[in-house]
Amino acid sequence: MSNFIRGYRCTVCGQFFETKEAMMTCPHCGEKGILDVEFDYEALKKVLTKEYFQNNRNYSMWRYAPLMGIEENHIDEMLRIGWTPLVKSFNLSKELGLKELYIKDDGLNPSGSSKDRASGVAVLKAIESGAKVIACSSTGNAASSCACHAAHMGLPAVIFVPKRAPIGKLTQISLYGATLVVVDGDYKAAFRLSKEAINKYGWYNRNAAINPFMVEGKKTVSLEIAEQLNFKPTDWVVVSVGDGCTVGGVYKGFYELHKLGLIDKVPKILGVQSEGCEPFVKASRENAPLEECEENTLADSIAVGIPRNPLKALRAVENSKGSWISVPDTEIINAMALLGKKEGIFGEPAAVTSLAGLIKALNEGIISKDESVTIIITGNGLKDPNNAQKAISKPELMEPNINKLDIYLKEKGVI
Ligand SMILES: *Cc1c(COP(=O)(O)O)cnc(C)c1O
Ligand SMILES: [Zn+2]
Repeated sequence: MSNFIRGYRCTVCGQFFETKEAMMTCPHCGEKGILDVEFDYEALKKVLTKEYFQNNRNYSMWRYAPLMGIEENHIDEMLRIGWTPLVKSFNLSKELGLKELYIKDDGLNPSGSSKDRASGVAVLKAIESGAKVIACSSTGNAASSCACHAAHMGLPAVIFVPKRAPIGKLTQISLYGATLVVVDGDYKAAFRLSKEAINKYGWYNRNAAINPFMVEGKKTVSLEIAEQLNFKPTDWVVVSVGDGCTVGGVYKGFYELHKLGLIDKVPKILGVQSEGCEPFVKASRENAPLEECEENTLADSIAVGIPRNPLKALRAVENSKGSWISVPDTEIINAMALLGKKEGIFGEPAAVTSLAGLIKALNEGIISKDESVTIIITGNGLKDPNNAQKAISKPELMEPNINKLDIYLKEKGVI
């Protein structure tokens, strides 16, 4: 179905390249010339109707294949990605005094994060292009999801991660049988080495910013949110931001649904970062160009000192008339505990950063309590048990003695 692709537009110089062939970056702007895939929306309008969705029994992100620019040849062989639950909140919304709150639990994807949406597309594209090896560098989740889907499809994977990657993610990568390169440095260093290796060995490049199709996978989260809400998405959608591909995808999904006449308005997007690594927030606050910054936060998935998709991310928030906000690590940890306690949903630090951002935005009046909100929980808490321990108090050992138990339960207020 790649016949709906019209071509690619450079996010830097704006030039349009009319072709159905796969492209990576703009030939004029080089590596920074990240491309946006454009479709023939008039032709798609005739195909992607509400009836199309009503009759579609494929409950995965592949239900959107015509709008993703992928061939459908191998879809049935893939693991099921997407169509994650959109949970209506009763307890957390009450706690926050919010009229309407939904939680998109993307930690329930096969490898436990939103990155599966992009990795699934990458692996399919790699197979389509006849690649022998797929490679990527990542803070951990793109890495583990790439390893996951490559394993399932029998494609060798080489994965570069910074040494700080949490134990759950590292374990996943090796368990899925990928060749793991733990780079003695930060994510910036891992990215550089992967880039050199990909150029040298000619591997398929899954790096999130460079490959324009990664956003095509990521945007399906918005397509799902809209569809799960009967094509009436919430006033706001809140998402944490590292490289900027996810937020770029979130915007593109809603923008295209609007273009196809399926939704009336694009939700405002709140982009949330950690104060320890907030290049986007700083740039928007100071109305200045993006500057490299330290990667100093426990929210490892969004500890990205040089965002690789700056323009898509900045435009996503701006065009949606949304806002940027950053939160300290302490509030991220509090949000993790709150989400667990109030909703039974366990998100990793970068994932619950969205909730911490929502709370701050409510306090600052950026979002008002009578607006409706969706937060995206982008990754599963089990990936990073060490940081999660900061959100709880560790249990003490109990003597197997009913009187001691009695005292403990009274202390806890259970009896
Ligand atoms: C990657 C990731 C993000 C942010 O996505 P970017 O595309 O890097 O902005 C947020 N949360 C989690 C859990 C992630 O893995
Ligand atoms: Zn260009």
